[in-house]
Amino acid sequence: RARGVEVEAVSCLGQCDRVPATLDAKLEFRGPPRGGVTPDDPELPMNLGGAEREDYPALAKAKAMGAEAVLEALQASGLQGRGGAGFPAHFKWRAVRAQPPGTRYVVINADEGEPGTFKDREVMLRRPRLMVEGAAIAAFVAGAHIVYIYVRGEFKDCIRALEDAIESGREAGHLEGLEFRIVEGHGAYICGEETALLEAIEGRRGMPRLKPPYPTEQGLFGRPTLMNNVETLACVPAIVERGGAWFKALGRGEAGSKLYCISGHIQRPGVYELALGVTLDELVEAAGGYVGTPKAFSPGGASSGFLPMSQRDLPLDFGSLAKVGSMLGSAGVVVLNDTVRMPEATMHQQVFFEDESCGQCAPCRIGCRVQRQALDRFAQSGEAGALEHVEEVAWEMNEGSICGLGMVASLPLQSAMRYFPSEFGGVPPSPDTPTESDDDGRQ
Ligand code: SF4
Repeated sequence: RARGVEVEAVSCLGQCDRVPATLDAKLEFRGPPRGGVTPDDPELPMNLGGAEREDYPALAKAKAMGAEAVLEALQASGLQGRGGAGFPAHFKWRAVRAQPPGTRYVVINADEGEPGTFKDREVMLRRPRLMVEGAAIAAFVAGAHIVYIYVRGEFKDCIRALEDAIESGREAGHLEGLEFRIVEGHGAYICGEETALLEAIEGRRGMPRLKPPYPTEQGLFGRPTLMNNVETLACVPAIVERGGAWFKALGRGEAGSKLYCISGHIQRPGVYELALGVTLDELVEAAGGYVGTPKAFSPGGASSGFLPMSQRDLPLDFGSLAKVGSMLGSAGVVVLNDTVRMPEATMHQQVFFEDESCGQCAPCRIGCRVQRQALDRFAQSGEAGALEHVEEVAWEMNEGSICGLGMVASLPLQSAMRYFPSEFGGVPPSPDTPTESDDDGRQ
């Protein structure tokens, strides 16, 4: 701005490891270099620090094993979807395979947009063939001949890497009978939600669909669709090559290794592949240590809210975080130190959700605004009364929203108020707050 350059704020650029990042008019990122990754270790399934392979040994092995054997290996691996929900991968694969004969699709969700998350970007840049090979195995099992890749439009370098990988795989004859179609997103966070993503590919505004039917039954163009996240598919080649039991044993309470993104007040932001279930301290150790005195962390981006450092020993896995009302999500871990005021940190998250709500459901569209306005009033007045309705509004949003965005959009504010009450005027959660047990059965 000082040099007269026009600058506009955006919600997320997928570059939390290199803040402050900007995107110029040619869609080139500017800012510090991208963060680090785990050093080369061939024992890691994705091994982002290792060399890219040109051949497709897992695809050849999968075809030799047959689809049912691949499904058994996937089930034995315990692989959970790495996009956020943690749903067992083999369920989806089997569900699509079980559909009546006809056209099926594989769709890769590469619309990485959760604040704090940038792991799929590194997979696509460093190991694009791993993801392409995983997708080709998925297509083989599902009986699909077309693979769509829905990728953030800002990730031009990822798109080039994917195009190169697909082209070289095709030239070498590995991808025979398979068509890859890359669709570029236009900066909408909600298009990372699977049904909004399908709407966007079909050329409509990206708004989530009501479920059921699920995409495995009626997905893209009404056909059975196997949709997986980039990281999920990148795990598949190693599972096929080395077996499900090998992969499962890499995790702690849950299966496999996991790509953790870490940013904020730590020494070396980046993507670290570690056992699923490491603690925050173990992850931060891999990233060079804390900067200053840590105060709070988000274990899975904005959608996971904030946790205090008293929870630092929790395993960072799907089940453990769900038990404390948070989530691992896509493992975008953000650390805040004691220089950060929680109302200010919370405001960033609430503004994000207000900007990114697709507006389809009134509780989400209006609730996101109401929560942000309440925080605004508190910031200006310092009066705790400004926040008195936060829990009730959150309940309405959770009950009345079609998709996960509306259901979790209040979590940053609720969790910050719960764990850091003194910074919000000492407002405790209201004892009258409606809970699920108060449900009177109305739909
Ligand atoms: Fe759109 Fe929010 Fe409804 Fe999701 S919950 S469909 S983002 S309005």
